[in-house]
Amino acid sequence: MHWAMHTAVRTSCAFRGEQSREPGRTDPPERPGSLLHFGFRDADGPPRRRGYDDAMVRKVLLASPRGYCAGVERAVDTVERALDLYGPPVYVRKQIVHNLHVVRELEARGAVFVDDEGEVPEGQTVVFSAHGVAPAVHATARRRSLNTIDATCPLVTKVHVQARRYAADGYTIVLIGHAGHEEVVGTMGEAPDSIVLVESVDDVERLSFAEGTRLAYVTQTTLSVDETGEIIAALRHRFPAIHAPKKEDICYATSNRQWAVKEMLAEIDLLLVIGSRNSSNSNRLVEVARVGGVPAHLIDDEGEIDLAWLDGVEVVGVTSGASAPEKLVERVCDWFRARGVTEVEPYRLVEEAVEFRLPIELRRELALAAQQA
Ligand code: SF4
Repeated sequence: MHWAMHTAVRTSCAFRGEQSREPGRTDPPERPGSLLHFGFRDADGPPRRRGYDDAMVRKVLLASPRGYCAGVERAVDTVERALDLYGPPVYVRKQIVHNLHVVRELEARGAVFVDDEGEVPEGQTVVFSAHGVAPAVHATARRRSLNTIDATCPLVTKVHVQARRYAADGYTIVLIGHAGHEEVVGTMGEAPDSIVLVESVDDVERLSFAEGTRLAYVTQTTLSVDETGEIIAALRHRFPAIHAPKKEDICYATSNRQWAVKEMLAEIDLLLVIGSRNSSNSNRLVEVARVGGVPAHLIDDEGEIDLAWLDGVEVVGVTSGASAPEKLVERVCDWFRARGVTEVEPYRLVEEAVEFRLPIELRRELALAAQQA
């Protein structure tokens, strides 16, 4: 696994209409194709400067990195390969990744999403989602003789392993995360009697442990880097001996996407985050912008853009959560282009070189099928 983030500012990119960034912000020129040019004219007056000034924007800046992370890529690939290998239906416990469009497309190909492994008919194939599952889920699947493929992101598995080790070593584990999130449910299931959940600094203030309790903390992978830093600082302040994980649990994709948004906040008036409501890392991107003083909205696709948001906005930033496919970004760009925006460009281009192999059980089956072919 290569977790390093490779940075390269490129002179060209895949986006049509790309232009070099101008320093500063200037009034938009009238140009063919803009709403201004299309002309709104009062009965007897000159063309009104409507659209561009009132609702349309001068430029769209694309954050980088954005969109699919290695864990999501692997999870979606897993379901697709399983469908190719076994044919439909392939059952998937929970949403494979938190994105409405991805789930709908996989459903159209024959994936059947269920809330609980108990809903999967005995002996059938079930894929566990990228967010991970508790050991109890594996146990139920075994009892029901299910053919399981575990698409849990390796970076989530790393947190599970940590939690198990801490519990085995007699630690009480403080898990920083969001109650009810699938990843948190799965991690807590590793050691339910040894884990307490905190969501905020206030929660840390309310913690109390018997004297001599050995403490360690782990975190959900998709949290706000800044907010989590504050919670960890509060934990260390209250419990100076608390044991920290060797490596940050917030994953590379979550922190890189937050960094990318922060980097361009000074250049944008509004941020659109493409992602579904239940996508934790997408919600965090909205928060990062708002905390930085820039209005931000979470949208599943271009159909959710509210023209009122664009009032008085010159430059719109666009990013996407780790579970949102790039084609949704392209659709949003096309939405702006169709309204006369010709400047659609990356703020900068940052490449991530992280790849995860398919789950071992699926690789074995694919190798077997290849031999028999
Ligand atoms: Fe893995 Fe991070 Fe992607 Fe979640 S957001 S699937 S933890 S890489």
